[in-house]
Amino acid sequence: MKTIGMIGGMSWESTQSYYQAINQGVKAALGGLHSAKVCLYSVDFAEIEALQHQGRWDETAKILADAAVAVEAGGADFVLICTNTMHKVADEIQARISIPILHIADATANALLADGITKVGLIGTRFTMEQDFYKRKISDNYPIEVIVPSADDQTQIHDVIYQELCLGRINPKSREAYLTIIDKLFAQGAQAVILGCTEIALLVQQQHTQVPLYDTTQIHANSAVLMSLA
Ligand code: GLU
Repeated sequence: MKTIGMIGGMSWESTQSYYQAINQGVKAALGGLHSAKVCLYSVDFAEIEALQHQGRWDETAKILADAAVAVEAGGADFVLICTNTMHKVADEIQARISIPILHIADATANALLADGITKVGLIGTRFTMEQDFYKRKISDNYPIEVIVPSADDQTQIHDVIYQELCLGRINPKSREAYLTIIDKLFAQGAQAVILGCTEIALLVQQQHTQVPLYDTTQIHANSAVLMSLA
């Protein structure tokens, strides 16, 4: 079994989900007392969040690349950046290590492709919805069109992530707002919606909607389990 390097803490609420999903996956595959080999480096999210909102991405890249160097030194065979947003600096992180990063957008696109999805809605932080690093990674490399919510809806989704979900607050009113936005994406032709922020599944799950949801935390964790056992 290969050792999974995790760069977590963004936020720790979702790193818990990753850790649980990865261990459940290894247990399901190997049975008994088997559990995942993991080397986790968890950052202080307050530092990252402040730098993100000031546009100081180079500094976030330095912090996360230092974390990746540490998990490589700790024996990791490959790395998961346990957040969609921080894949914005995935190339800078990759440049500092010799083990591969398992990219969350590749894992997600492969899951969509396997299910024949060719047009998908994306919800996540404003950085993920607005900028190209995530959408283009999918639409340039896979036959999948990615659509995002309106600017106002993006603001609502973004604010709930930082003001509620990353603080562990689950608010039914916010769930209703998210479901309305998911329905709008479906009405615009999306066959499914990517939960492109690793905390969203804490709020919205498949049981809440008929629209097929692709939870990036679960997908990324499943891919890591497969890679670790390959
Ligand atoms: N976990 C979130 C994501 O998947 C947002 C927190 C962050 O900015 O990293 O994008």
